[in-house]
Amino acid sequence: MDIIHLLSDTIANQIAAGEVVQRPASAVKELMENAIDADATEIQLIIKDSGKTLIQIIDNGKGMSVTDVRMSFERHATSKISKSEDLFAIRTMGFRGEALASIAAVAQVDVKSKRAEDELGTLLSIEGSEVKTQEPVSTATGTSISVKNLFYNVPARRKFLKSNPVEMKHILDEFHRVALAHPEVAFDLFHNDIDLYKLPIAKLSKRIVDVFGKNYRQQLAGCEEITPYVSINGFVGKPEAAKKTRGDQYFFINHRFIKSPYLHHAVTMAFEGTIPDRHYPFYVLNIEIDPSHVDINIHPQKTEIKFDDEKAVYSILRSAVRQAIGVYNLTPSIDFDSDINFGNLTNFKMPEKAPTAFDRAGSSVSNFEKSSSFQNPRKEAQQDWKTLYEGLESAANFQKTDENVHMGSKANSGIDTQVKPDLEEVDAVQIHLKYIALQVKSGMLLIDEKAAWERILFEKYE
Ligand code: ADP
Ligand code: MG
Repeated sequence: MDIIHLLSDTIANQIAAGEVVQRPASAVKELMENAIDADATEIQLIIKDSGKTLIQIIDNGKGMSVTDVRMSFERHATSKISKSEDLFAIRTMGFRGEALASIAAVAQVDVKSKRAEDELGTLLSIEGSEVKTQEPVSTATGTSISVKNLFYNVPARRKFLKSNPVEMKHILDEFHRVALAHPEVAFDLFHNDIDLYKLPIAKLSKRIVDVFGKNYRQQLAGCEEITPYVSINGFVGKPEAAKKTRGDQYFFINHRFIKSPYLHHAVTMAFEGTIPDRHYPFYVLNIEIDPSHVDINIHPQKTEIKFDDEKAVYSILRSAVRQAIGVYNLTPSIDFDSDINFGNLTNFKMPEKAPTAFDRAGSSVSNFEKSSSFQNPRKEAQQDWKTLYEGLESAANFQKTDENVHMGSKANSGIDTQVKPDLEEVDAVQIHLKYIALQVKSGMLLIDEKAAWERILFEKYE
């Protein structure tokens, strides 16, 4: 007797779903990417119970016709490619035509969709690959997909979902990736009716700050390199902002998030010598490359890719990042808060001047530069820096050479202060054996000795 038979669509889809939908976050990724491919400019993500009860994505993209909504749930059904050459010219996030079929195999799904040219939209309900109903509905242009009770019909998988915080963390990771890859799209994320993120359309720098918080504002160095083979743009964190934990590292190839230990190595090499061991720099880097030079069809989740000339990408990337952190190190900035690289000194404020045009014009550099009564702010800043630097050097020598005065003053007064007697041009006082206060042209400087000494050594050996 023959024993081979074809599997039913339902089982085939469930097997395929195993590759595409591992957890709620995978469905979030696929549905957000579909919305991006549909040219949405606003995407709303509504999550309940970390996606275990509900994942809903509402977009204002181009919508689907009545038949296309039905077709979209077939396996290998896609509007994005049609022939094999198309595989090497992919500009869309999706192309395999398996996400909706997979999701519908393991959940209860409602889709509402309408194109701009149609008066009425269509509402389709499908459960475990079985279409339940499809009917006309009045709805806005775009698509809304609700995925309810993921893995309701595959208890073994549902049982293996992790706790709500863990599953939500995975969802946030996917959300961050898509949001960072597409600052030209507005995103809104609700979890259990709480509005977690509201990200307006913005430049990438603002999107990074909107996602990770305003601490990042001072920490970004722009990175840009254009070559005929590949272009790189984005931001890297300044070296002093590097963290001990991995996590905030993002590569995008043509706006698709990818994981690449090889390219990560290129960035690490660019930072070599500027950050301590086992610290990881922040980066959000988009690599634009003609799709014919990459193969993204290696893995169903499309987070691994192959370049035809991997080494070229490596070295262009390394040099772009090196330049980004180099330029930032050399360019004197008005904002000294962020311009000094060393630990404690990052909190160091330059002395305030008497009110100047700077204050009147507001603190933005562009206003600052436009203001007429403050002709060359950059020069002024450099001047201040020079004063500070000279102060640091004298202060450091002072600390090394004058142990006696130091001891004396400690004995004489209750607090640890001392005056450097023979250093005429600098009037310095040491406080608590840790800080040096000194008078400069424009006011008073308080110097953290250890950080200052590190800075001097750094300048010397760089
Ligand atoms: P793929 O994205 O690989 O084509 P999917 O299963 O994710 O496969 O989607 C199937 C098709 O359904 C897409 O090719 C697209 O035409 C349509 N589609 C899916 N989501 C949307 C959406 N949000 N807006 C418009 N069309 C969509
Ligand atoms: Mg898709």
